[in-house]
Amino acid sequence: MVKDSKFYSTLGVSENASDSELKKAYRKAALKYHPDKNASPEAAEKFKEISHAYEILSDPEKREIYDQYGEEGLSGQGGAGMNAEDIFAQFFGGGFGGGGPQRPSRGKDIKHQISCSLEDLYKGKSTKLALNKTVLCHECSGRGGLEGKVKECQDCHGSGMKFVTRQMGPMIQRFQTVCDKCQGSGDICDPKDRCKTCRGKKTQQERKILQVHIEPGMKDGQRIVFNGEGDQEPGISPGDVIFIIDEKPNSEFQRSGNNLIKSIEIDLSTALCGGEIGFKHVSGEWIKTQAIPVIKYDDVKVIEGQGMPIYKQSSKGNLILKFTIKFPELNQIKDVEKLKELLPPQPELNIPIDALDEHMEDFNPIKHNERRSYDDDEEGHGGQGGPGVQCASQ
Ligand SMILES: [Zn+2]
Ligand SMILES: [Zn+2]
Repeated sequence: MVKDSKFYSTLGVSENASDSELKKAYRKAALKYHPDKNASPEAAEKFKEISHAYEILSDPEKREIYDQYGEEGLSGQGGAGMNAEDIFAQFFGGGFGGGGPQRPSRGKDIKHQISCSLEDLYKGKSTKLALNKTVLCHECSGRGGLEGKVKECQDCHGSGMKFVTRQMGPMIQRFQTVCDKCQGSGDICDPKDRCKTCRGKKTQQERKILQVHIEPGMKDGQRIVFNGEGDQEPGISPGDVIFIIDEKPNSEFQRSGNNLIKSIEIDLSTALCGGEIGFKHVSGEWIKTQAIPVIKYDDVKVIEGQGMPIYKQSSKGNLILKFTIKFPELNQIKDVEKLKELLPPQPELNIPIDALDEHMEDFNPIKHNERRSYDDDEEGHGGQGGPGVQCASQ
């Protein structure tokens, strides 16, 4: 019996799940919730949760501690645990070879949402974005000290991580933790030889301006990648800076892939007799077109080639027009009898002679809304229903 089953339920496996069951469950969930596949914030959170659960359960030592002591049992360990992306990269990029303490070989990608209006995505735009990033110290080229004075740490052989053993209840546990001699830096330098600029940190902060080109036809969720522009750290290659398009809704047009959809309300006369229709397009230009009689309520028409530009092509999608019809008020119709003559004859209804003759009036929500049917038996609802008596509930 395990103390806490949260990590198991996060991965959707049983508490006796085998190694291969864990792998299978992680693979499935990670592919589903990875930010590249699923852009929602809930998915990002879920991705972190499954990654963390997998990180613990896939490590036999950590799993044993977790089973016995729950999550608190793990909290005493040094190090903040692995980054979800690193776990993902390690899983899908070559498995768990090596065995020794490892550091990620590539820095984290930095992601930013970039908010775009439909007009921006129609016309394209170029925008400058400032970014604070970590770069290798320019003074010492990321060594952290004078040339030749920075030595590899003997305790961790330059990895910055080491194994320690610790008594945990009746068991001796082996942990991977940050090397305390070098504080995880992997090397040792006499304080007097340290770089004055970065004070031995090897890195410094820098403000960088990136010019982001939004191209016509780009879509919500599309990524613009600046390779290697992520934070720099000694010994690893920097990750990317990734801008993710966040398309803002437009009040006049909806987008459906490369098509644009516009709802248009026309008056009854135009619907019946035809006439000119005009509206302002996302492009900023006005479009006019001829409505040919008869346009019905909910009719859908298309203007070809007036949709969104297709990304990296010279063509465009279509513009889809969805019609609703505004009916006139009675006082706007000059002569109802004459109108009746002009319109097709009203159908014969074959209503039986003994039909009830009732009066119809305007609907009034306060007066005419149906009372909820359970209002009446509310009092008899005090849990007296014996076995087999079903209580109505909403
Ligand atoms: Zn420096
Ligand atoms: Zn060390």
